[in-house]
Amino acid sequence: MFEIKKRDAAGRICTFQTTHGSVTTPALMPVVNPHQMLLSPRELRKTGAQMIITNSYIIHQDPRLREVAQKKGLHCLLDFDGPVMTDSGSFQSYLYGSKIDPVEIVKFQRDIGSDIGTIFDIISSPTASFTTCQAEITETVRRAQESSAVKGDMLLAGTIQGSIYPRLRQTCARKMGKLDIDFHPIGGVVPLMEMQRYSDIARIIIASKKGLPPSRPVHLFGAGHPLILPLAVALGCDFFDSSAYIKYAKDQRLLFSTGTKKLGEIEENPCSCSVCQRYSPQDLREMETEERTRNIALHNLYQTFAEMKRIREAIREGSLWELVERRSVTNPSLLDAMEVVQGETHWLEKSEPISKKRAFFYTGRYSLHRPLVYRYHQRLFQRYIPPAKKIRVVPEEKKPYSKYYQKYVTTNTTLLVSSPFGPVPIELDEMYPFSQSLFPQKLDSETQEMNKRLEQQFLAHLQTLMGNQKISAKKEKIDATNYQSRKIKKVADMQFGNGAGDALFEGEINILVSPRTGKIRGVYADNQLIASMRASDGLFILGKEGGFRLHKHLDFPDMRIIIDDEAIPFVQQGRNVFSKFVIDASELVRPLDEVLIVSTKDDLIGTGTCLLNREELLSFTTGMGVKTRQGYPPE
Ligand SMILES: [Zn+2]
Repeated sequence: MFEIKKRDAAGRICTFQTTHGSVTTPALMPVVNPHQMLLSPRELRKTGAQMIITNSYIIHQDPRLREVAQKKGLHCLLDFDGPVMTDSGSFQSYLYGSKIDPVEIVKFQRDIGSDIGTIFDIISSPTASFTTCQAEITETVRRAQESSAVKGDMLLAGTIQGSIYPRLRQTCARKMGKLDIDFHPIGGVVPLMEMQRYSDIARIIIASKKGLPPSRPVHLFGAGHPLILPLAVALGCDFFDSSAYIKYAKDQRLLFSTGTKKLGEIEENPCSCSVCQRYSPQDLREMETEERTRNIALHNLYQTFAEMKRIREAIREGSLWELVERRSVTNPSLLDAMEVVQGETHWLEKSEPISKKRAFFYTGRYSLHRPLVYRYHQRLFQRYIPPAKKIRVVPEEKKPYSKYYQKYVTTNTTLLVSSPFGPVPIELDEMYPFSQSLFPQKLDSETQEMNKRLEQQFLAHLQTLMGNQKISAKKEKIDATNYQSRKIKKVADMQFGNGAGDALFEGEINILVSPRTGKIRGVYADNQLIASMRASDGLFILGKEGGFRLHKHLDFPDMRIIIDDEAIPFVQQGRNVFSKFVIDASELVRPLDEVLIVSTKDDLIGTGTCLLNREELLSFTTGMGVKTRQGYPPE
C-alpha cells in the first residue's frame, strides 16, 4: 500500500496505492470547493495534480450535493477519476463552531466513496494551554478509535493534534500509531503557517514523526505554500494540500518557491508557466476579476507543482539538504526553523543514506550540520584507531589527499588533513563525502570555529588512545602497498565498526588496483575476494569470503538483518528480502549500508544493500528491505 522507492534526508519518494490508482509521493493535493470550482478537477489534473482533496462537511450540508454524492458517488460529483481525499469539517468547527457528529461524518465519507476519509478531530489553537490540548487530544484519539471501527474499505486519516507542544504531538502520534489507521495528517498548522512560525512547524513535524510508525504516510495539513515544502519533505512529510493557490489568487498574490508577490508590485515576471508566457503582469491586472483569479490560481499551482518536482528530483540525486539550505535563506523565519533542525541531527542521522550520487555541495553554515557530517564525527571518535604514534596535521591540498600527501606517510606517522569536515585521516580520503565535495576557498567563521574545536578534541582523544595502545614507532618510508593495507583497514573500520579491518583483511593480502585511476578495486585474501571498493564512494561491497569473515567478527546482532525462516531458501538463491520477512535488525544499520542477512539462529544467509533502517524494516509490510547481493546456499 505504501512503500519507499527512493530516499534522501528523512524525505522519501513512495508509491501509495488507493482504489483509484497509485500516487507518487511527496504529493500535493489541490483543495476543491464543491460549491465553487474556479478550476475543475480535470484542469487540476492537467497542472500535475495526481490527487485532490475536498470537504465532506460542505457536501453533507448541501442537500443537492449530498444527494448526488450519495447516489452517484464522490468521484462522479467532482468529475474526477483519480484518488480523492475528504476532510471532515474539523476546520469549520474550529472557525465557526459547527456541530458535527464524529462517527456520522466518517460513515458519510465512506458511503460516498472517498479514498481517504478524515476523522472529525479537535483542532487546538496555538494559544491553548497544555492541559486544554491534552484533554483535546484524548478526545481526538477516542474519536479516531471509534471511527476506525466504521471505516470499511475506506482509508482512514487520523489527525495528529497537540498545538505547539512537541510532547503532546508525540503522545498523540504514538497513540494514533497503535490504531487501525492508514494515513496521518498533522493538523492545526494553518494558523502557524499564516504567522510564518516555521520553527514551530518544524518542531511539530519532528515530534509527530518520532511518535508515528515510519510506514504511515504523513500529511502536513494546510501547508500548501511552496516555501515550506522542501523543509517539510526533508523532515518526512509525504502529502500536502493547497488551498493557498486559490486563496492567494483571490487576493491577487502570486506564489513562488521563494515567497509571495503582489500582482500590483510586479513589473516583470520571470515565471515561464503557460499563464505567464501568455500574459504580462499588466495583462493580468487589466483582466476581469474572475478571469484574473483563475489565471493567477493556475500560475500558483504551476509554481507549487514545479517545486514538488524539484524536491522529488533532489531526493533522487541526494541533494535535498542542499535544496532546503538554499530555500532557508529566502525567508528569515525559515532560518529559525533551521536552528530547530540543527538540534535534531541525532534523530535525522538514522534516516540518512550512507552515500549519495551527487557530491557534497556546501551552501553555507548549515551544510556542516547535515546528518552525514554528524555521523562522520561520531564514527571518527568511535571507530578510528590511529595507525602510528606520531600525529601530523596538514592543511588541505588537492583531492584525493593521498595523491599529494602519501609521500609524507611513514610507519610512525598518522596523517590528518585539516579539511572543511574537520580532521580527516588520510586513509579515508576517497570515502564519501571527502573527495566528493565542493567548498569555497574561505569557509564561514562558524564552520571554521567548529573545525578548530573538533580538531583539538580529536587530537586529545588520540593522545588518550595512544596511552592505552602499543603502536610501532619506526620511522620508515611507507610504500604504496603498505599504505594501501593501512587504508583498507581504516575504511572497513569506519564502515562496519571497530576491528572490522583486521578481521576482514587477514592472511596473504592482495590488493587489486586500477592501472588507470590508481584506485583500489578489490581486496583478496588467500586468493579469495574479500571485498571490492566502489569507485564512486570509496566504500566496500562484501565478497563471499568477506561476508563470512565479517559475520564471524561482529557480535550478534551488529550489521545484521534477521529474517524469517520462510524467506531463507529464497535469499539463499539470491532473491531480495522484503520488509515483511524481517524479524529484527541491527540498530547500527543505516540506509544503503552493506549488511549481513542472517537467520534467527544467526546462520549467514546472504549479504546485501539495506534500503531501510531498523525502525522502517520493522514497520513496513510492503516493499523491499534488502537488495540481496549474494545468497549463501546451505553447505
Ligand atoms: Zn507563472
